Amino acid sequence: MVIYENVLCSVCGCLCDDIEVTVEENKIVKVRNACAMGTTKLLNYYKERNTKPLIKKDGKLIPTNLDEATSKVAEILVNAEYPLIYGWSLCSSEAIKVGIELAEEVGGVIDNQASVCHGPGIQALHNSGLPTCTLGEVKHRADLIIYWGCNPEDAHPRHLTRYTLSPKSKFIKDPKERKLVVIDVRNTITAKKANLFINIEQGADFELISALRAALKFEEIEEERVAGLAVEQIEEFAEMLRSCKFGVIFFGQGLTQSLGKSKNIEAAIALVKDLNDYTKFALIPIRGHYNVAGANEVTAWQTGFPFAVDFSKGYPWYNPGETTAVDILRRGESDAALIVGSDPLAHFPKEAADHLAKNPLAVIDPDISVTALAADVVIPSAFTGIEVSGTAYRMDRVGLLMKKVVDPPEGVLSDEEILRIILKKVRILKGVA
Ligand code: SF4
Repeated sequence: MVIYENVLCSVCGCLCDDIEVTVEENKIVKVRNACAMGTTKLLNYYKERNTKPLIKKDGKLIPTNLDEATSKVAEILVNAEYPLIYGWSLCSSEAIKVGIELAEEVGGVIDNQASVCHGPGIQALHNSGLPTCTLGEVKHRADLIIYWGCNPEDAHPRHLTRYTLSPKSKFIKDPKERKLVVIDVRNTITAKKANLFINIEQGADFELISALRAALKFEEIEEERVAGLAVEQIEEFAEMLRSCKFGVIFFGQGLTQSLGKSKNIEAAIALVKDLNDYTKFALIPIRGHYNVAGANEVTAWQTGFPFAVDFSKGYPWYNPGETTAVDILRRGESDAALIVGSDPLAHFPKEAADHLAKNPLAVIDPDISVTALAADVVIPSAFTGIEVSGTAYRMDRVGLLMKKVVDPPEGVLSDEEILRIILKKVRILKGVA
């Protein structure tokens, strides 16, 4: 029996790094400190799992070997004019780096899940910068925490206990010193824990932020109500923001994917900059998958752009709305795809999913997903953070090393190793190896 301490949980963007895992005979038998989502993954990841590469013959997926499967993926990518390489938020940063090399080599588009979640927030920070901080600073200093358009009690179950509402803190000794505010269109489970729940009208976030900016500067708001709230309530809230010692706004897809999209985040950034005239304030996107932030980081430091990078012109080109996966698929432009650690057929709009399924399709994934079932070739990979190590970026863009605690099944390689084999075969097929 071996007990591993400080294991990272590879589920959500909290990337909790205090998990204790007990392993007996290459099997995880006990998990401490993780939430229900993390515990479930760590104890059950190996169940109902395919460990053999599969290839489609006569309309059916049948077992094959890694050599034939990787050759088929290389062939699909080299024969395509405009392949799409999509996924990445459930992979190591090392694998993403190889994926970018592959996209460049085949003149395709590499995109990640940010294009359907926090992409608008990233576009906003291109224009305005991001007044931000780490979760460590929040834990030790923040006395006002605002969750705007997100529900961490459901999606990031340890966020409140580990970082915001009740963590052990160096400077905030009494948890009662912290105030929790939730701004949402619904009375969520997180809202039920808040000191103040601000129930706004759907699609009115931009108006509320603008009114708050005016109230902060003691400007007159001519309307009686904004975003469904009385102006007096907005002025009281502005005073609460102004008078805290260290405030932080965590924003989710309720802000990035509602009316206004990137303009909502630009307005929120402007609000936080204004607040720094009075006190200390920061803004942090609350990211979903465990390494979606890493997908943006690695893509940005490799290509200059964080997602939706098109190499078809021979150099990186980025234009969200044009080079984003869903838009390319909807317009029917791609003629093949490689999906790594994602299940777009289960989540993309129907038109986009239909186009993805009708062209040559390859999948690298530890699990058999809906997308894998429709693919021409499927390569099972090892679980990063359980069976192989790798780097991931937490939602506050802090890079952390994920541990390996058990061996993968025989013959099952990491995403990075599989992608390196494919890249080598692509170069051989192109005659550039
Ligand atoms: S909060 Fe997220 S990272 Fe932490 S244990 Fe739960 S699922 Fe894992």
